[in-house]
Parts: sequence; C-alpha cells; structure tokens
Amino acid sequence: MDLRDTSEEAAFRAQLRTWLDANLPEERRGWRGGEQRFGDAFGREWSHKLYEAGYAGLTWPKEVGGAGAPYSFQAIFYEEMARAQAPAHVGVIGLGMAGPTIMAHGTGEQKQAHLAKILSAEEIWCQGFSEPDAGSDLAASRTGAERRGEVYVVNGQKVWSSFAHIADYCILVTQQFPEEPRYKNLTYLMVDMHSPGVEVRPLRQITGEAEFNEIFFTDVEVPVSNRLGEEGEGWQVAMTTLLHERATLGFALTAALDLGVGRLLETAREHAGCDSGTRERVAAEWIELQALRYTNYRALGTYQHTGVPGPEGSAIKLRWSEQNQRLTKLGRELLGADSIVDDGWWHYQQLRSRGNTIEAGSSEVLRNIIAERVLGLPRSR
Ligand SMILES: Cc1cc2nc3c(=O)[nH]c(=O)nc-3n(C[C@H](O)[C@H](O)[C@H](O)COP(=O)(O)OP(=O)(O)OC[C@H]3O[C@@H](n4cnc5c(N)ncnc54)[C@H](O)[C@@H]3O)c2cc1C
Repeated sequence: MDLRDTSEEAAFRAQLRTWLDANLPEERRGWRGGEQRFGDAFGREWSHKLYEAGYAGLTWPKEVGGAGAPYSFQAIFYEEMARAQAPAHVGVIGLGMAGPTIMAHGTGEQKQAHLAKILSAEEIWCQGFSEPDAGSDLAASRTGAERRGEVYVVNGQKVWSSFAHIADYCILVTQQFPEEPRYKNLTYLMVDMHSPGVEVRPLRQITGEAEFNEIFFTDVEVPVSNRLGEEGEGWQVAMTTLLHERATLGFALTAALDLGVGRLLETAREHAGCDSGTRERVAAEWIELQALRYTNYRALGTYQHTGVPGPEGSAIKLRWSEQNQRLTKLGRELLGADSIVDDGWWHYQQLRSRGNTIEAGSSEVLRNIIAERVLGLPRSR
C-alpha cells in the first residue's frame, strides 16, 4: 500500500491549505481555551464558510449535498485543519453521527429535511444517549416514549450531552417498550430541541468550560415522522451512530495528536535538556503516534471498501485516548515550574484529556468490544 498522497490528494491538500490561509482569520488560529466551540457566533459562521467552500460532508454523497470524495480526503481535511490550528465545524455530532445515521436509516423526507442543514450548520445536533443510570449500558435507557396517535410523548432525563445548549436537534434513545427484553425495547427519535418541555442545564467541567449538559424532557411531543428506524429497533440504529462516532473520532483525533506530539518535541527541546530518560519517553510517544496513524490508514481501507466503519475504530479510540493522557501529563512534567507562566495549553489539555477515556466508549468497554468482536474471546458476562 502506497501511503503517499496521490496526485488528486496532493492537489486537494494544496487547495485546502491555500483556502485556509486566505479564509481563516489570524486571531482565530491556535489554542483559545476551547472557548470558540461554544455559543460564539463565529462557530456557525466559520462552519457555514467551510460548507460553502465544499469542505463539509466531504465523503457524503453528492445527491445529499456532500462532495462524494474518498475517505482519504476526509483524513487530509483533518490533518490540514489541525496543521492550521483551525476551529472545527461546530456540527461535530451532526456531521459525524446524526447525518450518517439518517443516511443509513432515514426516509427520503428525513434526509431531505436535515442533511443539507447539518452540512451548512443551519442545524446543530446533540446526542441524547447517556442517562444518570445508563452510560456504558445504553440498553438500560429509561427515558420513556409513549405513543399517542401521531406523536410520541417523551419524559425523562439525559446527561453529558455535548453541545445541547446550542443544539437545534437531538438524536435520542428512548425506551418505548419497558416490558420487552433488552435490545428490543428502544426507539430512536430525532427531537427538535426548541420543543416545549425541553430544558437544558449546562454542566461545568474540570476545564472550567460547560461543554456538556443535562437535558430534561417533560411531556415533549415528538412527531412519529421523526422516528429513525422501526419502533423497538432503536438499539440497531444506535449501533450505527456509535460505529460512526468512533470512526470519526479516530481520524480527527489522530490529527490533533500530531499537533500534541509536535508541541511535546518543542517543549522537550526548550525545557527538558537532553537526559536519556526524557528522550526515551518523548520518542516512545512519537513512535506510538506513527503506529496509530498507520492503523488509521488501515481503518480507512475498510471504510473505503465497505462504507461502514470497522472495529479498528474501537482500537484507535482506545489507543488515542490513553496516549493523549500520557502525552499531556508528560508535557506538563517537562515544563516543570514554567507551567505557571506558560500559556496554559498543557494544563488545559491535561484536564480535558481526563474525559477522553470515558467519552465515546470508556476504555474498559472498548477492551471488551475488541476482546469479543475482534479477537473472538468469550463474553465477559
Ligand atoms: C467529555 C464527554 C462528552 C460526552 N458527550 C456525550 C454526549 O454528547 N452524549 C451522550 O449521550 N453522552 C456523552 N458522554 C457520556 C459518555 O458516553 C458516558 O460517560 C460513557 O458512556 C460512560 O458512561 P457512565 O459515565 O454512565 O459510566 P458507567 O457506564 O457507569 O461506567 C462507570 C465505570 O464502569 C466501567 N464499566 C462499565 N461497564 C463495564 C463493563 N461491562 N465492563 C467493564 N467495565 C465497565 C466503565 O469503564 C467506567 O470506568 C460524554 C462523556 C464525556 C466524558
């Protein structure tokens, strides 16, 4: 397998680089403490600009407004965005999870109603899966959906919903049939976040930001036409979302890690001298990054052939999240006392990295998935 850019990929990379140089305002480059991701008008404007230039939904089919490009273009996009330190499209959940799920399970009307608006950032989406008593165990969701004629009446609570405070829609896992066995009791809905009865309460994180939220649903009416898949088949629809979540994260996060390893090398040069122990630890992180990059390329190959993300997504997410925690800890260690006068990047990254091994599947759950579905070992329980 030749991993160098083909002539088409090289042309795309060059064009994107030129576009970013010309369109990304200097003051929006680089680290801004995460603030630009939340509630700032620039986020939507920037996302819309990416859309107009054809960079949103690169791999989505042309008939739904995407560019119909190969997955390698998406990987190049993430690499170049990370290189330019450009803010991501704010529709992370719409582009990476809701959109692919609608494409896989949605009706013609549902695709027509939402896909173009996800691309253009006219609709921001959030993911209402986790509940106070149902995180890793999604099948234990208790948020109820009771069918009354042409609507479902939704009652319950979700938690840790990233972007819910700016979202227009939510992909929601509900329990419609409490009396049915697990995996046959769930129904998957798309809920208008501006509906009466939806209340969003931001949760402050260890970083100081309020990136995620609690969502309370009180007698919220959701039209039956907003159901994705059949009644009682919400589990299967949710699995599509989760496979895409891990695959999207893999590409985007390896690109971000590249930046982190680059910064680690700089920090080591400036602060840590050249003792062999430090050199060894820094080199180990660089080597791990290369291994992850090649695993990503392998995942890309599967994706390209089947159109469905493979189990590599779980392995990449596991390795990435654990590496990011090691890397950010090492970065702060190398800074030593200078971390007090530093710009705060390492400090912020280390705090934010704590959530990496929990979000999109905790490390323990991912190890179970790899053991059972990749290695064919017996089920853990
Ligand atoms: C930054 C961040 C953003 C998030 N964004 C969203 C979002 O947008 N939408 C959303 O719905 N959720 C979101 N989440 C929630 C996330 O999906 C859950 O936190 C995650 O699924 C774990 O669930 P839990 O917190 O309930 O922990 P639990 O499931 O209660 O797990 C507790 C501990 O037990 C372990 N454990 C659980 N089951 C097993 C098992 N079978 N075998 C071995 N160990 C096990 C876990 O690894 C963990 O260490 C986010 C979380 C974070 C940190």
